[in-house]
Amino acid sequence: METQNEFASASRTTECDLVVLGAGASGVAAALSAARAGLNTVLVDAGPMPGGELISGMAIDGALNGRGEWIMGGVGREILAECESLGGYVGANCDWRLIWYVCLDPEFMKLAIARLLARAGVRLLLHTQATHVSVDGDRVTALHVRNKEGQLALRAPLFVDCSGDADIVAAAGGTVLRGGPGGEMQPVSMMFRMAGVDTERLLAFQHDHTESFALGESDAIRQGRTDRELAECAIRQGQPSVFIKGNGPLLSAAIERGEMYPTALIMIQPTSNQRKEVCLNTTRVGGIDGMRTGELSGTLSTLSDQVVQCAAFMRRHVPGFESAAFSGMSTRVGVRETRRIDGVQSLTESDVLEARKREDGVAKGSHHVDIHQSGTGQIRIPVKDGGSYDIPWGCLLPKGIANVVAAGRILSADRGAHGSARVMGPCLSMGHAVGVASAMLLQGKGRAPSYAQVDVAALRARLKAEGAVLDGTR
Ligand SMILES: Cc1cc2nc3c(=O)[nH]c(=O)nc-3n(C[C@H](O)[C@H](O)[C@H](O)COP(=O)(O)OP(=O)(O)OC[C@H]3O[C@@H](n4cnc5c(N)ncnc54)[C@H](O)[C@@H]3O)c2cc1C
Repeated sequence: METQNEFASASRTTECDLVVLGAGASGVAAALSAARAGLNTVLVDAGPMPGGELISGMAIDGALNGRGEWIMGGVGREILAECESLGGYVGANCDWRLIWYVCLDPEFMKLAIARLLARAGVRLLLHTQATHVSVDGDRVTALHVRNKEGQLALRAPLFVDCSGDADIVAAAGGTVLRGGPGGEMQPVSMMFRMAGVDTERLLAFQHDHTESFALGESDAIRQGRTDRELAECAIRQGQPSVFIKGNGPLLSAAIERGEMYPTALIMIQPTSNQRKEVCLNTTRVGGIDGMRTGELSGTLSTLSDQVVQCAAFMRRHVPGFESAAFSGMSTRVGVRETRRIDGVQSLTESDVLEARKREDGVAKGSHHVDIHQSGTGQIRIPVKDGGSYDIPWGCLLPKGIANVVAAGRILSADRGAHGSARVMGPCLSMGHAVGVASAMLLQGKGRAPSYAQVDVAALRARLKAEGAVLDGTR
């Protein structure tokens, strides 16, 4: 007769002030700001390392607007400062296409995040999967997690959902939305890096073959300049920040002859000037539901093949990469889109494109509406005049659940707005906002704190005092 024995059967309970689920960009920022404000904060993640896509090698989008002005301050900037103090910061770069982004070395970012969390006194629980919640009326009373030690109930008055999948909100009975109108989701990708890149040769190649690169896709970046003049700006910037477009002759011909897989882009961004290293954002598998573990795990082999294929293509066809070597890839398959909350307010595509400002804004975004599609498709629509828009507090409040707040790519938004606000700059700023709001609620000594009670004007004032950018900028 078959018997079942658990690896670990301990069942324990821990009390704290705040539980943050998910140690990606938003969760790290939320936990840091809450713990610094004095909250006993537990940060839970199923993975082995905090940081999410901050440690994958990709640059941080939506930290500056399309005119090169910072729109992310506060905790996000402090994380960057720590990375810089360790020597792993390249800095803000223009891609001479649509955006300014912040480039950094993911290996140093791992160190920066670990050190900051420890210094702030965040209680980090890695390798720990959240399994379910206990609910009493409109309140979550415990987040139940499981790890090698067994089952643990995390009891707290407040919970922050930074899971990227809205796990707490969905488990508590909140309404969640999935992907596009037919439930379709953006493709999953594997970020990888190559070292030993000759930047001068790469930028000269772009200058002489502008037809293969994406340049000046917004008026704010183009400013009446020709592609060649924009390529000259890139040479003056002196960083390997270029975007090989899927419909340009270089890449489309390679796709046609089967030398490359169908893709909309090979986006190249510097990660380390010392190692002459860049990150490449190009691989993709479409038609995947990132919450189906078997399906997601099954993409690893295809994505790994694409990494090998692209590295060979780069060495063979792109000047500057002749002697470059594969130097690493992300520790996880990157998931752009799964579930998001249905909030008290919802950010719209028109809010984003019109750069709409709000009195109840608690974070800013500036990234274009950026929806990757399967194969060679990608929607890219710039924000008006290279400006920024505000994310209202209500976009982080799930309907009907009093003591749970959301941050990161699960904010309440229509699909177009999600395509913009999902990037890491706004995720860090939203995390900062929910961490500070949690501290304000608990310091208010109310018996049953609810995120709907937050005094948004006071929250904005406190965020600004901590360096957040909430006014302006265009
Ligand atoms: C391939 C790709 C390319 C991108 N390119 C860029 C770019 O160039 N620049 C940019 O700024 N943004 C980019 N983005 C978007 C951006 O990186 C993400 O949207 C953002 O990092 C999401 O952060 P988050 O904190 O909301 O969620 P995540 O980073 O997804 O963090 C969620 C965390 O929650 C944990 N978790 C989830 N469920 C559970 C559970 N039940 N129990 C325990 N732990 C759980 C996960 O392990 C994960 O660590 C890209 C995304 C992808 C995937």
